[in-house]
Amino acid sequence: MSIRSYPHLFAPLDLGFTTLKNRVLMGSMHTGLEDGNKHDRLAAYFAERARGDVGLIVTGGYAPNRVGGVKPFAGKLTTRSEVRKHQRVTNAVHDEGGKIAMQILHAGRYAYHPFSVAPSRIRSPITPFTPRELSAAGVEKQINAFVRCAQLARDAGYDGVEIMGSEGYFINEFLVTHTNQRTDKWGGDYTQRMRLPVEIVERTREAVGKDFIIIYRLSMIDLIPDGNSWEETVALAKAIESASATIINTGIGWHEARVPTIATSVPRGAFAWVTKKMMREVTIPLVTSNRINLPSTAEQILSDGCGDMVSMARPLLADPEFVRKAREGRSDEINVCIACNQACLDHTFANKMSSCLVNPRACHETELNYNKAADSRKFAVVGSGPAGISAALVLAERGHEVELYEAAAEIGGQLNMAKVIPGKEEFHEMLGYFKRQVELTGVRVNLNTRVSADELTTRDYDGVIVATGVTPRNPGIEGQDHPKVLSYIDVLREQVPVGERVAIIGAGGIGFDVAEFLLQDGHSPTLDLDEWLAEWGVVDPSVARGGISPRRSPPEPRRQITLLQRKTGKHGARLGKTTGWIHRAVLKMNNVQMIGDVNYERIGDKGLLISYGDKRENPTWIDVDHIVMCAGQVPLRELQEPLQAAGISTHVIGGADVASELDAKRAIDQGCRLAAGL
Ligand code: NAP
Ligand code: SF4
Repeated sequence: MSIRSYPHLFAPLDLGFTTLKNRVLMGSMHTGLEDGNKHDRLAAYFAERARGDVGLIVTGGYAPNRVGGVKPFAGKLTTRSEVRKHQRVTNAVHDEGGKIAMQILHAGRYAYHPFSVAPSRIRSPITPFTPRELSAAGVEKQINAFVRCAQLARDAGYDGVEIMGSEGYFINEFLVTHTNQRTDKWGGDYTQRMRLPVEIVERTREAVGKDFIIIYRLSMIDLIPDGNSWEETVALAKAIESASATIINTGIGWHEARVPTIATSVPRGAFAWVTKKMMREVTIPLVTSNRINLPSTAEQILSDGCGDMVSMARPLLADPEFVRKAREGRSDEINVCIACNQACLDHTFANKMSSCLVNPRACHETELNYNKAADSRKFAVVGSGPAGISAALVLAERGHEVELYEAAAEIGGQLNMAKVIPGKEEFHEMLGYFKRQVELTGVRVNLNTRVSADELTTRDYDGVIVATGVTPRNPGIEGQDHPKVLSYIDVLREQVPVGERVAIIGAGGIGFDVAEFLLQDGHSPTLDLDEWLAEWGVVDPSVARGGISPRRSPPEPRRQITLLQRKTGKHGARLGKTTGWIHRAVLKMNNVQMIGDVNYERIGDKGLLISYGDKRENPTWIDVDHIVMCAGQVPLRELQEPLQAAGISTHVIGGADVASELDAKRAIDQGCRLAAGL
């Protein structure tokens, strides 16, 4: 597969005054590098992506003024001294032959600070601050801020700007009645409500001249009640075209929408059909977006006429060489974004620097590098889960000789269980990437090999990395040897038959995974777009405002499941900020009973006996066919002591190091960082 395999993806796009070398737009994504004085790190981050051949980069959002910042001290472009700092970024991208546009983002009522402004004084459901309603003069001031910001972006060397008009931010808030209840010329009927974006684009064009890219990001499906109708969205797109925007990019759903739009359980390219509807309405290029993570998916979407370009943000975080690899026929070498959000969006919402679960170098380009080692040494890595395999690959990339030992018949450790969960199919891509990298780097793999400390000590290694993972915690419940009791490994790996009534002990990541696995019984709505859209109540926006209708009545769940935990509080509280609610919603839709504050008293023929609270009240039998233990895990590291006693340089990583709250993000990061320093 090469450039010839992706003729649509690699067709240049002539914009009249400039030409993009291919159809890949690196979508805007806030990483944290935009805030504070991190321009050199940002320059390195984008330069690497430009070197990887992306057609057009769009930065994370920069505020056009203080009130428009997403949070206090959010990155902005309002002064000449900031222009000079931005020049470091644009120069770095241009030096690599790339093009870059800056996104202008006014957060409106989504701003996480008390100075937020909006068309009307209506608080959003996802922020604690009520915005101040702008006066008519205040609206003019915001427009001027957009225009000046675009001018400054031009001075800073950007090839264009993206005006953020979607996702429920400031501009979007003028468009719909539930956030715009104004009675002046900026509110009222739709022509008045859409005046703001049109004026912003028109006045920006006047200010920046003809030969500057203006992308307008337009909410094509709001996914909220009383969102825009399709006729309104089309009217806006036409007006934006007339206002001289160069490109329209697709926005999908407001942030407050209760429909997943980018999580891993969203089918690939799930919303490309929305952009396709718009293709017949305007003549300027349209960018389609959301859950496009492979060149083949992108090519298919373009060849189906769903857009003129594809936007990919997270996939370029995961692999800066995504485009180049596709062009050179090396698609099987792409480190694929699995859409987990764990190191990118979840970090952003926790006010932490973004990175990427599959690529810990993302946003750390200036400090985490896999340079060739001064001397080639010989290492053993024991365990090929995410920690071990990552360490092995980085060691090999740096020129060391690496021998990998794996007790199972395949590499990947617990990733092999994750991949069978409905909605987590992307883990197959991660495993595929690891397997291909093993071939390319020459790591010697010994499968079905439970290596002993004695064997390791006699093999002359300069160091041993113990990545032997975890084993299920023994919860010590009376009667736990009963035949009704299964472990999550029995269910997910051994796939032993499970009855119709099930109690799950433990509501962490694995308890949720097991619940979803048992509910779907081998089926996955993620692999069936129509079913998935119906499940979440997404419809054609020509049929219902905002493209949502009541969810279809769920079919009778395949199993009756009870998910238990000892603590009080919501189940799955430690699941990802941006994805936990989706998992909880799926379980609720399928009538899973979630019970907390329990004590596990006993297991017997009748099922599971629980009681409640400190006083062990209301003892109740849960009558089930099976009880699945998902009570956490403990480290497996018996090799450590004998190896250290034998004087071998030994490093323990991943779950073998710390089992609690282990996930692939920490495991991969730890493996890569250790190997980078050896
Ligand atoms: P976990 O998240 O630590 O959850 C363990 C569960 O077992 C908790 O609900 C805990 O709740 C319960 N528990 C702990 N000790 C117990 C005991 N002695 N008896 C009975 N119950 C006990 O661990 P996990 O579910 O095994 O997941 C392992 C790691 O993989 C986690 O860090 C998880 O984040 C990660 N993972 C993540 C995902 C994801 O979607 N991101 C999916 C799968 C796994 P109580 O103490 O309240 O009972
Ligand atoms: Fe993709 Fe997950 Fe990496 Fe984010 S952290 S870029 S979602 S793989």
